[in-house]
Amino acid sequence: MKTVETDIAIVGSGVCGLLSAWPALLAGQRVTMLERGALKTHAEQLADGQWAADVPGAEPNNETAPGTPPYPWSYIYGVGGSSLHWDGATPRFTAADFSMRSAYGVMVDWPLTLAELEPYYVRAEQALGVSGAPEGTAATANGAVPPGARILPPHPLSQMDRAIAPHLRPFGPLPQARPSQPLQGRPACCGSATCELCPVDARFSALNGLRGVLDHPRLDLRRQTVAARLRTTGAGAGRQIEAIEAIGQSGERMLVRAQRYVLAASGFENPGILLRSGLGGSAVGRYLFDHAHTTLIVDLRRELSPGHGDTLSTGLSEALREGGFRAKRSGAILIPFNPGAPLAPLVTEGVLAGDGGDRTRADALSTWGRRLPLDMLTEDVPQAGRRVTLASKRDSFGLPLNLVAYPHSTSYELDGIDDAAEQVGRRLAPLGARGVEVSPGPRGGHLLGTCRMGTGDDAVVDPEMRHLGIENLFVAGGSAFPTYSAAHPTLTIAALALRLGDLLARELSPSSAAASPAARAGL
Ligand SMILES: Cc1cc2nc3c(=O)[nH]c(=O)nc-3n(C[C@H](O)[C@H](O)[C@H](O)COP(=O)(O)OP(=O)(O)OC[C@H]3O[C@@H](n4cnc5c(N)ncnc54)[C@H](O)[C@@H]3O)c2cc1C
Ligand code: SF4
Repeated sequence: MKTVETDIAIVGSGVCGLLSAWPALLAGQRVTMLERGALKTHAEQLADGQWAADVPGAEPNNETAPGTPPYPWSYIYGVGGSSLHWDGATPRFTAADFSMRSAYGVMVDWPLTLAELEPYYVRAEQALGVSGAPEGTAATANGAVPPGARILPPHPLSQMDRAIAPHLRPFGPLPQARPSQPLQGRPACCGSATCELCPVDARFSALNGLRGVLDHPRLDLRRQTVAARLRTTGAGAGRQIEAIEAIGQSGERMLVRAQRYVLAASGFENPGILLRSGLGGSAVGRYLFDHAHTTLIVDLRRELSPGHGDTLSTGLSEALREGGFRAKRSGAILIPFNPGAPLAPLVTEGVLAGDGGDRTRADALSTWGRRLPLDMLTEDVPQAGRRVTLASKRDSFGLPLNLVAYPHSTSYELDGIDDAAEQVGRRLAPLGARGVEVSPGPRGGHLLGTCRMGTGDDAVVDPEMRHLGIENLFVAGGSAFPTYSAAHPTLTIAALALRLGDLLARELSPSSAAASPAARAGL
């Protein structure tokens, strides 16, 4: 079997894998990155409207566990991972999000604090080219970010944001990886608001924003190469990973040997690879979580001018995010949707009522102009029964599929949703709110919490994302989240990845260049 020798082996070429690699590449290390999907350029994505190339490695590899409800999981297997498809919202977590047990007596504390992560948040905001990052923290940034990356000014609030802001404070610009100014050859947002496949390639993806990492001469990116399992050597405290067994594009097998191994393959495959390698234990695969969005549509008496704004969403309300109520029910973040509520049902209503033509058009537009659509994110208490194990069915590589059990949300999240809807209606009464329609929003794209960070029996990795039983193995990404916040996860995934990257650079190059001025300049 062919063997590849390297310094660091990373599974997965998404934001997490690439940012974990960057400081070590700058410090002179060689990185071999295994990616099961293919490289599909933005132009190729636009041509057929699909994010992933049609190759065997890109096929979904999860199955619903018998007796559990189906769930619309959504992820991309390809160079860049789900950053090819994401929306780009990048709020930070709050201090309490890291310390739910200490702050509110529920869930668990993370073994690290917001203050410890803050410098990495700033670097992550630079790396993703975030518009509207929190002010006043740039001075805390210290370390390598990919070339050309920088924080941008916020997008201006839309008319709709400005109308509701006084009633939903704190209300400010939404931090997002959709550029307010040209960046790295990409234009500023044009406001067409089809951001999951941006027509002008403005919205950050790993392909446009982390080009400098992908093109680095010491990065050996092996596309269409599936990490099948990890081989271990030794026993007890001396147990080590000695190689990754991988399957290449034409079915050929190879071994990748390194000093350090990083799993950055997201919430299904991180536990899947551990389980396939006999590295289970009762904690691996548990506490899976996705932010199921909820859509609130508020009928108002006042015209709000939807359909305007620099980009998909420009405002963020944190009015319902924090407070003692989080001991009992979820906090929420609220993001107005600039394109407005769906218009088609209003037109259909008019047509079904026997109207048509100008009258239907005018009525539909008038109702649409007074409808406020809010995208709401909430969180739930971690449930051990939400879980990834291995199925008996196999994929085209002969590997067991990931078997996913995802029982329904608990009353903690459901009560949070009910309460938030009620409060939104009440707070917007001065604008003539006549009712709040609550419906499920998009879901399935945040694969969090299956190899959690901590020190107890239910943890898989330590605060540095190092496997608790295997010193040269790191399990990175959202799978390490012990709790989930109401905020989107990717900025936090990126911050943790840069932190891990610094550690790898330090461990393998004690006189690391990672913190030098040259490295900071991305040279
Ligand atoms: C529609 C949608 C909208 C989203 N919107 C937002 C948003 O607005 N804000 C936000 O914060 N997040 C959002 N997300 C989530 C966001 O995309 C992810 O959190 C982020 O991309 C995760 O990055 P990652 O590198 O950890 O994992 P991934 O991007 O999943 O990358 C993992 C990589 O590992 C590869 N891989 C997996 N298994 C193997 C294996 N065995 N061998 C080799 N390679 C392997 C995969 O092909 C993939 O490329 C959204 C997701 C979706 C689907
Ligand atoms: S608003 Fe337009 S330019 Fe900006 S990310 Fe969305 S689709 Fe792209």
